[in-house]
Amino acid sequence: MAKKAAKKKPAKAAKKAAPKKASKAAARKVAKPAVKKLPAGTYKFQMGEERIPKRWYNILADLPVPLPPPLHPGTLQPIGPADLAPLFPMELIKQEVSGERNIDIPQPVRDIYKMWRPTPLYRAHGLEKALGTTAKIYYKYDGVSPAGSHKPNTAVPQAFYNKQEGVKKLVTETGAGQWGSSLAMAGAMFRMEVKVFQVKVSFNQKPYRKAMMETYGASCVASPSTETNAGRQILAADPHSNGSLGIAISEAVEVAAMNADTKYALGSVLNHVLMHQTVIGIEAIEQMAMAGAYPDVIVGCTGGGSNFAGLTFPFIGAQLRGGKKVKVIAAEPAACPSLTRGKYAYDFGDTSHMTPLVKMHTLGSTFMPPGFHAGGLRYHGMAPLVSHLKELGLISAEAYTQNACFEAGVLFARCEGIIPAPEATHAVKGAIEQALKAKRDGTSPTILFGLCGHGHLDMAAYSDFMAGKLEDKSYDENALQAALADLPKVAA
Ligand SMILES: *Cc1c(COP(=O)(O)O)cnc(C)c1O
Repeated sequence: MAKKAAKKKPAKAAKKAAPKKASKAAARKVAKPAVKKLPAGTYKFQMGEERIPKRWYNILADLPVPLPPPLHPGTLQPIGPADLAPLFPMELIKQEVSGERNIDIPQPVRDIYKMWRPTPLYRAHGLEKALGTTAKIYYKYDGVSPAGSHKPNTAVPQAFYNKQEGVKKLVTETGAGQWGSSLAMAGAMFRMEVKVFQVKVSFNQKPYRKAMMETYGASCVASPSTETNAGRQILAADPHSNGSLGIAISEAVEVAAMNADTKYALGSVLNHVLMHQTVIGIEAIEQMAMAGAYPDVIVGCTGGGSNFAGLTFPFIGAQLRGGKKVKVIAAEPAACPSLTRGKYAYDFGDTSHMTPLVKMHTLGSTFMPPGFHAGGLRYHGMAPLVSHLKELGLISAEAYTQNACFEAGVLFARCEGIIPAPEATHAVKGAIEQALKAKRDGTSPTILFGLCGHGHLDMAAYSDFMAGKLEDKSYDENALQAALADLPKVAA
C-alpha cells in the first residue's frame, strides 16, 4: 500500500539550519524559521498551511528562447492587453505576459487553497512491487480537491481576480465537466454567477457533472446550443453535432464578448492558467526533498497542458537555472495526439475563429477527435508554453491508446487504492512504461508522476473497459490533413 511520503515538516531540521554562534540579528536573517511556533499540544499536521506556496512560478522568466507572441485574428499582428480586456480581468492579462519569475498568491486565494493544499505526495510501493521494478515511483495527488482534480488551483484565483475587478458573471466551456465543476465551486465561494457550456457528448454521458455544477449554483447547457451565433451555425450545418471543446469555447467567448458584466475563464492552455498550477510542482519539490529524493523522470498527462505544466515547470525551471537535469514526458491520448502528431504552427483556440492565434502543436481548429473516454484530453491544441518547451527539446511526448491506459488505471487502483480519472490514467501508463524500462535496463531511476484527479464520476468508462467495450479509435488521417490544410496562413 502507498505510504504518505512527506506530509510533515521536520521542525528540527529547520532549527538545525540556524548558524549557532551568529549574532541574533544575523541568525534571524539567515534562518527565518520555515514554520511558526505552535502552542504546546497542537498537532504537527496543522503546520501544513504554512507549506502552501506563497508565490506561483512563472517559467517565462527562465526561457532560453522567448515564447512566440499571440496574434490578433484579424490583423495577424501581436495582440496588446486592450485586445484581451473584453474577455479577461486586467490582473490576469498582466500575468499572461509577465516576465516576473515569482508572482504572489493573494491571501484570500491561499485561504481557499487551505481546504485541500498542500496535496499529498505518495510513494507507490504497491505499484513498484506489482511491476517488480527497480525504479522508485512517487506520485503527487491533486484529486483531493473538492472538485476532484487540479482545476480548482486556477479556478479560485481566476474567480478572485474577476471579483476584485467588479465582474458579476463568468462564462466558460467544459469537456469532461471537471473544469465546469471547478469554476462553479470557485464562483460559489466568491458569490459570482457562472455559466458553463458543456460539450454535448459528455453532457449526455455524465449527468452527475451537471448536477455538481448546479449544486454549486452554476448553470450548465449542452454545446452546441441555440443560445449563441456560434452554436446555431454549427447546428445548422450538423443538427446532431456531438460538440467539441473548440465549439464550446466559441460559444463561451461570444457570450463574454457580448456582455459587459461577463468575463470568460479558461481552464487550461493559457500562460496564467499554467502558472497557477505550479503550486503542484513547488510543493512536490519540497515534499520530495523531505523524502530525501529528487526525480530523474517526471510524467504528466496532457490535454491542454495545465496539470503537466503545474507539476513539471518548477523542476524544469530549476534545471534552466543550473539545477539537476530531469527527463520530462508528456503522456497524451493516441486518439487526439497534438504533441506527437500535430503541427507546430499558429492556430485558433476555437472552432469559430474568434480567439487570438497562438503558436502551438495543433491538429487544426476544425478537427473533431473521435469519441473516447478521457474527455478532458480532447482538445485540438496544446498550451503554447508546453509546445515551445517541446520544440526546445526540454520535454518529450508519448501517445497511448485508451485500453492500455485503463489497464494501467485498474492496476494502479488495485495496488494503490485510488481510482484515477481517465485522463490521469495516461500519466499512470507513462510512469509504468518508464518503470518497466528501468527493469529491462537494470537501472533504478526515481520517477514522479502527476495523478491529477480521481475517477469517481467516470465509473461508466471503467464499466465499459471491464466489459471489453472500449475501442481504440485512431483519428482519421484524412480529416486531420483537411483540418491542417485550413490552418491560418501566417508568415513564419
Ligand atoms: C481537465 C483535466 C485534464 C486535462 O487538462 P490539462 O490542462 O492538460 O491538465 C487532465 N486531467 C484531469 C483530471 C482534468 O480534469
